Amino acid sequence: MSTPDVVIVGGGIGGLSTAFALSRLGLRVRVLEQAKQFGEVGAGIQLAPNCTRILEDYGLLDEVKARGVVPDRMVMRDAVDGSELTSLDLRDLEREYGFPYLVIHRSDLHALFLEACREAGVELLTEQRVVSYTQDAGKAGAATQAGAVHEANIVIAADGLHSVARTLFTDDRPVSSAYVAYRGTVPIAEVDRPVDLSEVVVYVGPRCHFVHYGLRGGDLLNQVAVFESPKAVAGLDDWGTPDELDTAFAATCDFVQDRLPHMWRDKWWRMYDRDPIGTWVDGRIALLGDAAHPPLQYMAQGAIMAIEDGWVLAEHVRRLRDADGVVDWAGALAAYEAVRPEHCRRVVLTARVWGELWHLDGIRRAQRNVLLRERAVGDYSFTDWVYGPTALFPADEPPMFEPIPLASADRVSAGPA
Ligand SMILES: Cc1cc2nc3c(=O)[nH]c(=O)nc-3n(C[C@H](O)[C@H](O)[C@H](O)COP(=O)(O)OP(=O)(O)OC[C@H]3O[C@@H](n4cnc5c(N)ncnc54)[C@H](O)[C@@H]3O)c2cc1C
Repeated sequence: MSTPDVVIVGGGIGGLSTAFALSRLGLRVRVLEQAKQFGEVGAGIQLAPNCTRILEDYGLLDEVKARGVVPDRMVMRDAVDGSELTSLDLRDLEREYGFPYLVIHRSDLHALFLEACREAGVELLTEQRVVSYTQDAGKAGAATQAGAVHEANIVIAADGLHSVARTLFTDDRPVSSAYVAYRGTVPIAEVDRPVDLSEVVVYVGPRCHFVHYGLRGGDLLNQVAVFESPKAVAGLDDWGTPDELDTAFAATCDFVQDRLPHMWRDKWWRMYDRDPIGTWVDGRIALLGDAAHPPLQYMAQGAIMAIEDGWVLAEHVRRLRDADGVVDWAGALAAYEAVRPEHCRRVVLTARVWGELWHLDGIRRAQRNVLLRERAVGDYSFTDWVYGPTALFPADEPPMFEPIPLASADRVSAGPA
């Protein structure tokens, strides 16, 4: 094997999309994946305009659309009474941002990146568990459990939530949210109630929420049920078990309760994120994707941030490559680190607060509902900072929105003074 330009550790959506972005510049890229096969576990994934804009640039958007569903509306409902709280008109949103909002099975998206990597000549190696990293002035290396060292100009660690590479930067641990996600995809023919597949729907309730949308051209219904585990809150190890699922949704409306038997009950995902860190580059080694910024999933931006990371890095490599094809690697990594950590910090922290808002109970739930019902459908002031074009430089990062205090709902309900 000849020495590649770039070694990427981890063949998830972050690693593969970055491998594709770099290989289409003509670079030699090697991906090291620990599993026996490349693949994704899980169900659906939502892709907002800040991602579909990049997929279009990659020439992959038409294929993603063909394999996924482009819904008309995103609707938030109260999980207890089923009433509508707010919505996004996704056709209007597409006009606003220039690119669609779509949903796709994550294994379909992963497979598409895998095919694109194969066609672009990326070296894709499996059963390569990376256990340590090396570097000197000229090269970086990823050393596997089997004793091989894979060297390149730079090593990108896209090795997920439990990243080995992250230990080069911090001794932090994943932060448990005490929430757990159940997933379940069912053939639409087996769904006993009418479900509008032109909508992405989230039912938000006290300490729980439920999401559904169509997949694979509407052949499948994707469902996600998320709740706070009392056993996790009590500090027990055995948390998130199926008995907790049913109890957590006991106070929700009939529609949500009817869907619970159709969740996969033999596998669940405990939900962790990590506190943001501002340093992702150590010499010739850089973190990317969940290794750098694992979020809670409430903003549906985790995989998107990973895809954006790879696009930003590749754009800087393109910019900092001379006529002979020699890349200023230190410059490209510095430019990447100058812009991405701040954006991802905002997403990770906003996702935590957004999740809290979804899960409110009592008076705070009522205040939230008043404020959400007040919001105009075409008001994009809360999404511009995230759905707009991905910033390449810090000065391009859009301003954050102004949060609305929950207590201001009391003024709304009381009417004009
Ligand atoms: C319930 C739920 C819903 C979500 N919904 C959305 C959504 O709608 N939209 C969205 O954008 N995001 C969503 N996310 C987040 C998204 O799934 C993740 O942020 C994203 O998959 C991270 O991709 P990654 O490639 O960085 O990491 P991973 O997908 O974790 O990939 C890491 C890869 O590295 C490999 N690896 C790990 N360690 C090593 C090692 N030492 N050596 C070699 N290989 C290694 C792993 O086997 C894996 O293949 C959701 C997450 C959850 C839990």
